Amino acid sequence: MANMSLKKNEMPVQAPDVRNKNFSEVALGYTEEQAIDEAKRCLNCKNKPCTTGCPVQIDIPAFIAKVAEGDFAGAYDVITKSSSLPAVCGRVCPQENQCEGKCVRGIKGEPVAIGRLERFVADWHNAQPEAPVQKPASNGHKVAIIGSGPSGLACAGDLIKKGYDVTIFEALHVAGGVLSYGIPEFRLPKAIVQKEIEGLKALGVKVETNTVVGRTVSVDELMKEEGFESVFIGSGAGLPRFMNIPGENLSGVYSANEFLTRINLMKAYKEGSATPIKAGKSAVIVGGGNVAMDAARCAKRLGADVTIVYRRTEKELPARAEEVEHAMEEGINFKFLTNPTEITATEDGWVKSVICQQMELSEPDASGRAKPVPIDGAFFEIEADCVIMSIGTSPNPLIKATTAGLDTQKWGGIIADEDGLTSKEGVYAGGDAVTGAATVILAMGAGKKAAAAMDEYIQNK
Ligand SMILES: Cc1cc2nc3c(=O)[nH]c(=O)nc-3n(C[C@H](O)[C@H](O)[C@H](O)COP(=O)(O)OP(=O)(O)OC[C@H]3O[C@@H](n4cnc5c(N)ncnc54)[C@H](O)[C@@H]3O)c2cc1C
Repeated sequence: MANMSLKKNEMPVQAPDVRNKNFSEVALGYTEEQAIDEAKRCLNCKNKPCTTGCPVQIDIPAFIAKVAEGDFAGAYDVITKSSSLPAVCGRVCPQENQCEGKCVRGIKGEPVAIGRLERFVADWHNAQPEAPVQKPASNGHKVAIIGSGPSGLACAGDLIKKGYDVTIFEALHVAGGVLSYGIPEFRLPKAIVQKEIEGLKALGVKVETNTVVGRTVSVDELMKEEGFESVFIGSGAGLPRFMNIPGENLSGVYSANEFLTRINLMKAYKEGSATPIKAGKSAVIVGGGNVAMDAARCAKRLGADVTIVYRRTEKELPARAEEVEHAMEEGINFKFLTNPTEITATEDGWVKSVICQQMELSEPDASGRAKPVPIDGAFFEIEADCVIMSIGTSPNPLIKATTAGLDTQKWGGIIADEDGLTSKEGVYAGGDAVTGAATVILAMGAGKKAAAAMDEYIQNK
């Protein structure tokens, strides 16, 4: 019988005052009973609006119907026809703007908890004994992927299944891109990401870490000297922006990317870690996106009293509502309509405080959002030991600078068509390297599209 409850089954979570002191996962996942009960809220609409809201078009009603029957293996098969990273996407996709945003049940109540169900199915699958892996037969062609984030992993996954000899080149010492170095353990356990990567390796994907393309080897060398017939660039948008205000070069000022990398990859929060990190007694985070929420919640877990300063109001915060709610529950302070103008220093060159200017909103700017303008003479000071800049990132210019004939936008994004083809023959690109900072699922979708186009290019060459 259909479950006509207007509310989603609640997701069990760690209590806020417990979780803000540890790095373990906040959301604990549905039980089988909760998942089946939630699945019964799906009306199995004929025109599947939820599926049109999914960038990789998972047949959502079909997988949910399987969950409702208790056929979790069947549900997993439906999801993985379209998505190679369900345990990741079930956790971090902005479902409220995608599948759940289109769910008919959302008109008169809460939408079906599609993300939570996807996560449940993936976690159920991961808890089963592993089936032996059959390596696909080789088709004799060799391709290279630059970057091991979701775009690169999705591209690699599709190409290895078609028989290609696939090598991923990754600059860092750990594969996974933002999934490994950016999104904190308490939102996305790293064991899940590594399991996905091990799965690709078992199929035959080679992963060369510590390889900076453009320094260790160039795209042109990969193609001319190392026999790669086509290359996918999924190098992300990891170059942090700064405000260019006085004091940004003081000790204790981090970009959010550096701060999160030290915590996620180097486990800087663990006793005895060789990587120093200091959030101090009080930390100020500048910005209002998901990355700012992640940095703030990490600083809180390191023991700091944390304040997020954002130049617009709560209504304009770009972060996911769930992340903002979790941050507020965990005791993070928000100062809206606030813009830092200077970071002051202690005598020994560390951060002492942040001077901020009060803002007010005026007419919408080019982004369509109300424009924040400073209020003359309205300054105040926040004491801080640490400042984390989280005001956006852009693609690193290294690959463009070292690849002949690769066109980019003025802001650094690689120019690519719908299928990912760049201005250079045989070279494809996708994910944040093309769009600028976006989402995991869009990056995956771009990697999959490029894989199909690379296959067609090589087969027709
Ligand atoms: C802190 C944080 C939190 C986020 N939270 C969410 C979220 O909750 N939900 C969501 O959907 N999205 C989120 N995002 C955005 C999402 O993670 C990205 O859109 C997505 O990871 C982009 O994937 P990608 O494959 O294009 O690039 P990335 O994940 O950035 O991976 C690129 C990889 O390429 C490597 N690389 C770069 N240059 C080179 C080179 N020259 N040679 C070799 N390797 C290179 C990098 O080291 C990196 O590993 C978040 C981003 C951040 C930073």
